[in-house]
Amino acid sequence: MSEMSCLFCRILSGEIPSTKVYEDRLAYAFLDVAPQAPTHVLIIPKEHSDSLNDVTQADEPVLGHLLRLAPKIANQLGCAEAGYRTVINTGGDGGQSVDHLHLHLLAGRALSWPPG
Ligand code: AMP
Repeated sequence: MSEMSCLFCRILSGEIPSTKVYEDRLAYAFLDVAPQAPTHVLIIPKEHSDSLNDVTQADEPVLGHLLRLAPKIANQLGCAEAGYRTVINTGGDGGQSVDHLHLHLLAGRALSWPPG
C-alpha cells in the first residue's frame, strides 16, 4: 500500500477531515466514522505500517506507545473506569479494512464476547 493512497495517511496529512481526540509526535487519534460503540476511537501511528504483520523490532516503542495511549484517551473521554476494549484487526480474516496499522478503542456500553 502506497502512503499516497493510504486513507489514514491522507487523514494525517489533513487531506481528509477527521475529528481529532489526541495527537502527539508519534500518534494521532480520531473518531471512527462508523462507530461500533458510543465511544469508538482509532489510534494510529504517524509512520505508516500496513498491519501488525509488517512491524519489526524497531516498531516496538511506537507499538508500546499506542497501547499506553489507550488508557490515557479512555480517561480523557471519561470511560476508563467503566471499561473499554482495544482491538487490532489484522488481514482479511481479522477484519482489517484499512491497511494502516490502527488500534480501535471501544467503550460506552457493555461489549459482548466473543466477537463475530
Ligand atoms: P478495520 O476494519 O479494523 O481496518 O478498521 C478501519 C476503521 O476505519 C473502520 O472502523 C472504519 O469505520 C474506519 N474508517 C474508515 N474510513 C474512515 C474515515 N474517513 N474516518 C474515520 N474512520 C474511518
